[in-house]
Amino acid sequence: MQQQLFDAGELTSRTELDRRCTPARSGSGPPRETCRICRFKTQWEGVAGRYLKCALMKHEWSRGGATDIRANWPTCSEWKPKTSENERTNDESGRNE
Ligand code: SF4
Repeated sequence: MQQQLFDAGELTSRTELDRRCTPARSGSGPPRETCRICRFKTQWEGVAGRYLKCALMKHEWSRGGATDIRANWPTCSEWKPKTSENERTNDESGRNE
């Protein structure tokens, strides 16, 4: 009989792992919408290129991919649609905050 050395607990799903880069669970926002048109989606200019980040998670941003988001991810419950006004401000700054 095999002895279990530790309790691995429940498997962590991909959406749970995404929490460091999203303020709430991906998929908890409006259905059929994505981060692409959220006012909090922002581009961070790194040495090697631009990376998509969620402005609401700036306190967690790292230089690695762990805090990157993808434009096609399902929305989280903090999703807010872009307006022409905040979109223009973000485009002018280059580094949206
Ligand atoms: S839906 Fe908006 S607030 Fe939520 S993770 Fe995507 S960019 Fe951030």
